[in-house]
Amino acid sequence: MSGEREVSERLSMEDILIEASLENRARAQGIKMTAQRAVVCSVLDGIDDHPDALQIHDKARQIDPRIALATVYRTMRLLEDRDLIKSHNFGDGRSRYEDGLKDEHGHLINSDTGEVIEFHDAEFENLKKRIAKRLGYDVTGHRLELYGKPLG
Ligand SMILES: [Zn+2]
Repeated sequence: MSGEREVSERLSMEDILIEASLENRARAQGIKMTAQRAVVCSVLDGIDDHPDALQIHDKARQIDPRIALATVYRTMRLLEDRDLIKSHNFGDGRSRYEDGLKDEHGHLINSDTGEVIEFHDAEFENLKKRIAKRLGYDVTGHRLELYGKPLG
């Protein structure tokens, strides 16, 4: 047996789903895939920031000009209900979206420009576990948003 094969046998279902496109992950979750929903999924697949529905709609319309904003909203809701995407509210009233499979991370929002910067911090990871443990819990998720202005 080749080494390569051993590795592939150790891939978990989760690894396989991470490899799959959002469209295929959505199908695997039982979402009925229409051509327009597939366009929305393909737009989301190519995004690594935190767009709102209007920005997603703009990009989807470049592929299929007939896509209505309501279709984008409905598709986003279906995907969010199955944790395939995550929504955030960074204080400006717009829901912003990102891939639900991304590792947990915090967001720093520039309160002058609205720019969103992602960060990981080992100290914070330990702190959240300590806080939860003190309260008798295991952490299963967190949301951390910092708002600030650039120094100097
Ligand atoms: Zn993020």
